[in-house]
Amino acid sequence: MSNKLQVEAICQGTVIDHIPAGQGVKILDRLHLLNSEARITVGFNLPSKALGFKDIIKVEGRMFTEQEANELALFAPSATINVIDDYRVVDKFTMAIPKTLRAAFACPNSNCITHNEPVESYFYLRQKSNDIQLKCHYCEKSFSKEIVAELR
Ligand SMILES: [Zn+2]
Repeated sequence: MSNKLQVEAICQGTVIDHIPAGQGVKILDRLHLLNSEARITVGFNLPSKALGFKDIIKVEGRMFTEQEANELALFAPSATINVIDDYRVVDKFTMAIPKTLRAAFACPNSNCITHNEPVESYFYLRQKSNDIQLKCHYCEKSFSKEIVAELR
């Protein structure tokens, strides 16, 4: 089997490649892709030279917003985004962990003002060894990305 078969061409849309194996499902969930009308092709546990195994998600007719790309970066900082138009890759960029995230995740601290006041959550992100720490702007507590990402 050639790689071409695994990456069936789409006419127009987005291909998220080099997702660490196992993170693809989280991304589908996080970005509510399965609730949308978009046609989606996924590949899980595909062989990858760089990662060993990788997931890939192809979304027909859909571009990602900057906010979505930022959320994506939390789960798959090494992912590559290919923007497809007329069956050709017209743009290609690598994810980068954003410095801040607004209104993406709820603060895990139940005493945090964001739960009682109509303010959007706001986190500062910091890479810490293998994890990403998110520090809440309001209560100033830091949380592991794994804790924050479980919440909506
Ligand atoms: Zn907080």
